[in-house]
Amino acid sequence: MTTITSISIVVPVYNEEDNLPILFAEIDRAMSRTNKDWHVIFIDDGSSDKSLDVIRTLSEKHDTVRYVAFANNCGQSAGFKAGFDAATGDVVVTMDADLQNDPADIPAMLQEYERGYDMVIGWRAKRQDSLVKKLVSRFGNAVRNRMSHETVKDTGCSLKVMRTAMAQRIPMLTGMHRFLPTLMKMQGATVSEVKVNHRPRQHGVSKYGVWDRAKATFFDLLAIRWMQSRSFNYVIKERK
Ligand code: UDP
Ligand code: MG
Repeated sequence: MTTITSISIVVPVYNEEDNLPILFAEIDRAMSRTNKDWHVIFIDDGSSDKSLDVIRTLSEKHDTVRYVAFANNCGQSAGFKAGFDAATGDVVVTMDADLQNDPADIPAMLQEYERGYDMVIGWRAKRQDSLVKKLVSRFGNAVRNRMSHETVKDTGCSLKVMRTAMAQRIPMLTGMHRFLPTLMKMQGATVSEVKVNHRPRQHGVSKYGVWDRAKATFFDLLAIRWMQSRSFNYVIKERK
């Protein structure tokens, strides 16, 4: 059993101006059910629309809103990393900014974490994406699980709860956000999966091409395999 005292919700944002006010209202509603101390950290990843203005306005109105704004677009992994570094909560919750993840799932994930896990990951059982995206993702998950000896059903789901101290130690490089469960397990983390809601994108556009992402992820997988073969967890017997 673990008791969570405070929560940092880390949300990378790239051109999501119309989604942000709705997302914050949904997070606010969901988190008020938890009776826990929480805040959101938006990471503006060099947006060229009005996302940063919207984030500034939200942070002026609500003391639960913090933000980090990048000078240029660095990618979602960099966004997560900046969020982990800025987090002051003992757990971080990560999620997308485009309303595809549902903040209403967070309280149940926190409860699961408190049962004694270091990480709880969402599984989009009824994924609301195009058929091509779903098929490529299903194939990608199978290849990834086979090559990295994993059993995770859906690493691509951004909605995750993680022990902050462990998240901060992950060697984050571009693309590594797609392997967070494996990178956490390399540090000895225990991981649980829970079914979560998934919704179609209503505002703005997807930032990824299906095939480019599949190709990049495959090469990243080779790096993950190498890291797995080189990772160690020493146990200290004695120290002076
Ligand atoms: N995102 C980001 N930087 C990028 C690309 C995407 O911060 O360079 C954010 C984006 O705003 C969204 C999340 O990452 O909150 C997932 O992106 P997207 O919805 O485009 O991915 P998809 O759902 O199409 O896989
Ligand atoms: Mg999306």
